[in-house]
Amino acid sequence: MIEKTVTSLVEPCDPQLAAILQSEDERQAAVLRMIPSENYASPAVRATLASTLSNKYGEGYPGRRYYQGQQNTDAVERLAIERACRLFGYPHANLQALSGAPANLGVYTAFLKPFEGRIMAMRLDHGGHLTHGSPVSVTGQWFEIRHYGCDEQDRLDMDEIRRMALEFRPHVLVCGYTAYPRVIDFARFGEIAREVGAISLADVSHIAGLIAGGAHPSPFPHIDIVSFTTHKTLRGPRGAIILSQKPEHAEAIDKAVFPGLQGGPHFATIASVAVALHEAESEGFRNYSAQVVKNAQALAAQLMEKGYHVVSGGTDNHLLLVDVRKSAGLPGKRVAELLEEVGVVLNFNTVPNASDRQKPLFPDGIRMGTPSLTTRGMKENHMAAVADFMDRAMKNMKAGKLEKDESPWKDPAAAAALTAEIRAFALSFPTFTW
Ligand SMILES: *Cc1c(COP(=O)(O)O)cnc(C)c1O
Repeated sequence: MIEKTVTSLVEPCDPQLAAILQSEDERQAAVLRMIPSENYASPAVRATLASTLSNKYGEGYPGRRYYQGQQNTDAVERLAIERACRLFGYPHANLQALSGAPANLGVYTAFLKPFEGRIMAMRLDHGGHLTHGSPVSVTGQWFEIRHYGCDEQDRLDMDEIRRMALEFRPHVLVCGYTAYPRVIDFARFGEIAREVGAISLADVSHIAGLIAGGAHPSPFPHIDIVSFTTHKTLRGPRGAIILSQKPEHAEAIDKAVFPGLQGGPHFATIASVAVALHEAESEGFRNYSAQVVKNAQALAAQLMEKGYHVVSGGTDNHLLLVDVRKSAGLPGKRVAELLEEVGVVLNFNTVPNASDRQKPLFPDGIRMGTPSLTTRGMKENHMAAVADFMDRAMKNMKAGKLEKDESPWKDPAAAAALTAEIRAFALSFPTFTW
């Protein structure tokens, strides 16, 4: 419904762009969206993004702005802060960081001196994020980094992490990941950080919705600072929140975000986040977040039953990784590309304990998650159908080097039939349900 309103308003002004918008609406309805960091936000969340708040400037924070005319923007930002604090149990919240990467940069620059600050975090190829000190990110160029990884069971080894922290003495100890399917022991991370005198940071971008809905343990009161994107499992607009406990931390973060890194806040986004936080306080959202995990576990179990190598042997959260090279001798990138051809959209991903052929752009694994499918109303029994679609597609993929113009499918007609079947299946679900 909101899709039609949007395109009908844009169409008369800019038909060329309206056609692209409509094509994306149709794509999102017709495929199985399994990128674990994506979701379908509610019509109310998306409508708020189009509000007149988008026309307003307001550098500063509620009650202390550099421009006049802030009666409504102050009310919006105060409401959003109040809801974020209530939902996650932290006394301070900053909602101005424009997205996850700038939120993390805000935290680092609040507490660390360039070229002196030390950050300890998870390595990228084991599930860490670029902003956790990758050499291609300024976070890896401006700060001294030590990375920890997973053990042979694809799990965090907390004793090893403590040993490294005692040796490296980080100023900020980071937990929270983009591709780790297991519960994070926030209590233990907080304990280690206190022992070495570090600030603990949990970047819970992926699992914020699970924490809000009670499907993953909370970082409170163990972790000092919590940063996260609002558009993943939390099901809001693209944005970010930074929570903190100590007033001196909150003050440093507020200053780092504005004026340290940014100019005027995006009030339409902050208002839209407020709507998402309101939704996240509902019973329906608790059910959704529990179902996200049940669906991921059902999908993992189905894939393992069909002989696929699921990293760490399953999942506790919304995502899972499959080592497709170990499972079927297939490279992750080819699998992701061919799955998209039949209508299953996920991403290729590095996996821990991979073969020596693995490279970031040529990894051994694929990563998938259930938030979007769950928002569409799918349950465990539908995950059996999804696993079956994926299995049929992967069994039909050629493993070896392909000649120019050679079909990557063993049976191209079967791939075409499967594409039609997946499309019909996807279209039988709405894009948003409670
Ligand atoms: C998604 C993500 C980010 C970055 O968020 P953007 O909105 O893409 O900048 C940061 N950290 C983690 C752990 C993430 O999963």
